[in-house]
Amino acid sequence: MNDKEPEARFPEVATLLSQVGRELHRRGWALGTSGNFSAVITRDPLRVAITPTGIDKGTLSADQIVQIDGSGETVEDSHRPSYETRLHLMLFELLGANAVLHTHSVWSTLLSELQASEGGISMEGYEMLKGLRGVKTHQHLEWLPIIENSQDVVTLSESVKAQLIQNPDCHGFLLRGHGLYTWGQSLGEAKRHVEILEFLLEVMGRMYWIKGRGSDTVFSGDRLALTER
Ligand SMILES: [Zn+2]
Repeated sequence: MNDKEPEARFPEVATLLSQVGRELHRRGWALGTSGNFSAVITRDPLRVAITPTGIDKGTLSADQIVQIDGSGETVEDSHRPSYETRLHLMLFELLGANAVLHTHSVWSTLLSELQASEGGISMEGYEMLKGLRGVKTHQHLEWLPIIENSQDVVTLSESVKAQLIQNPDCHGFLLRGHGLYTWGQSLGEAKRHVEILEFLLEVMGRMYWIKGRGSDTVFSGDRLALTER
């Protein structure tokens, strides 16, 4: 897919990735050091640009972005890559994606708890769904799986892989009490998916609250689907 060597492409990818990271922080979806972002530099050999661990996303700069190989090792002396690097590499391999973006928004955190017993969130009937790759109509049914969080990234990666094999058409997933993962064929597409899914999660969260007003059963745990208007 690329006719340049990784070293020649890396500065450009790192610049774009840092811009996206700062923008996601500005939107309130990756505050503090939360979230991590990556993009494929070259496929053969596999080289990936990824955000480092422990860096404030509001001041993320291109020179902080780390270049890793297909086993997650840094290519040159640099910051340590994100703790969730293994999960990103699994997504590149399993899905053929070229960019992975992971946010920690208020709405994804809230809804992943509220809907955890359902195992996911169904979204149907909204025009914004058409911003997801391959979706042509608002009648599309999008299932966003919710996966139990873990501090063991190997366990987490295996749980996610099993869920994605069961749900090959999904455009993202939630980690419970943690945040959203989504991806794309390009960094631009992945960013669009973050915007679409975060929009839909906020709509759902606000609707949950509006529906619950005036009753004693706010956040009763009733199944909430975006088709319920
Ligand atoms: Zn995270």
